[in-house]
Amino acid sequence: MEVTRTVPVKLSVPDDREADFHQTIEQFNHACNYTVQHGKNDDGYLICNKSTIHDKVYHDLRDETDLPANLCIRAYSKAIEAMKSTVADWKKGNSRPLPRFDEASAVYDKRTVTINDRSATLSTINGRVAVDYVLGDYQQSYLDDDDYEKRMGTLHYREDEDAFYLHIVVKKAVEERDGDRVLGVDLNLKNVAVTSTGTFYDGGELLWGQNHYFRVRRSLQHKGTRSATQVLRRLSGRENRFVLDRLHTISRRIVDEADAHDCAYIAVERLTHIRERMDNGNDRVKRQLHNWAFRELQEMLAYKASEYGIRVERIPPAFTSQTCSKCGHQSSANRDSETGWFECNECGYSVDGDYNAAKNIGLKLLTVPSGKRPDGLGDGHLALKSGMVNGNGEYTADDSSSSDRESTDKPTTSVVG
Ligand SMILES: [Zn+2]
Repeated sequence: MEVTRTVPVKLSVPDDREADFHQTIEQFNHACNYTVQHGKNDDGYLICNKSTIHDKVYHDLRDETDLPANLCIRAYSKAIEAMKSTVADWKKGNSRPLPRFDEASAVYDKRTVTINDRSATLSTINGRVAVDYVLGDYQQSYLDDDDYEKRMGTLHYREDEDAFYLHIVVKKAVEERDGDRVLGVDLNLKNVAVTSTGTFYDGGELLWGQNHYFRVRRSLQHKGTRSATQVLRRLSGRENRFVLDRLHTISRRIVDEADAHDCAYIAVERLTHIRERMDNGNDRVKRQLHNWAFRELQEMLAYKASEYGIRVERIPPAFTSQTCSKCGHQSSANRDSETGWFECNECGYSVDGDYNAAKNIGLKLLTVPSGKRPDGLGDGHLALKSGMVNGNGEYTADDSSSSDRESTDKPTTSVVG
């Protein structure tokens, strides 16, 4: 799989070159707009063919602007992309105006920008300009990682900060991990997330806190919107950001845990199940709020796991909460719906219900066939707190661990995400 990230890096632009940057962006937009205006055939239809456009506008752009050759090419290429999506919309019968470019940005490629670890040089209308970066830890971690190829970027001007940013596109090919070890993860309301390795990510009070809930609810009433999902998408308020930060932390730690246990897979449930398992069936807002949070969390997990070559797989959800992860006995009486505690009627296995579910979710990936794996993961293993277990329930201790099977069934770790 290929991992692509866009890393925004603030630039320290020399005072006497700021005007060059501003004018470069301005002329870049002009070149985009010029392309749209002249990229039509005699009937007025937009031409979306690159070489035809090149013949029509390239020389004009070189004459009319001070942009270097490759910024002209990036400008008409950007225009063509926008023209294509406009034409596609027209074909669907939607009305849409011609593309118009006035955003404060310009696209750079390997011929117009040289990206170093701590500085870059960018082509402008007035020759190349060397700039230093103003870096945070996040940006630094990508720039210092030599596995990432860094050859493209977009120059942005942020008016509110009066600052230029280079949004560097970093890419690396990540090999999918060998191995067949699985981390099972249960997403639920009580703990947010519980792993088969026995970690409880307790976002609890803070994540599902009343503030966030009431804020969404008030916003719904205020705007008369029917869908909380729409409101959540729009809300950029403090509580929403706070919840997203928390989900970021939790997803990062889950991926770290999968990495620490040498897992090649993270198994989660398809989201439909979470909806069914929620007790607050009559509260639509709460339900939508939770669905939104779980969807965000799953997306963050997949996004972060890809950097490690770890795949996130969604398994069919049925019965993960009422099946005994130790003996396989399934009964709705196994789980106390009041307390969430699991106690197997067959073998007596007694454990936190969400932890039991996390193990079942991982075990399902081992045993349930899918298109890619007609036999499930076959010889795969589920990672436990120490050691691992295969699809037949056979336990293997870690090499370095002297723990027996029993001790692995008593999760103790508790992390507040
Ligand atoms: Zn049992």
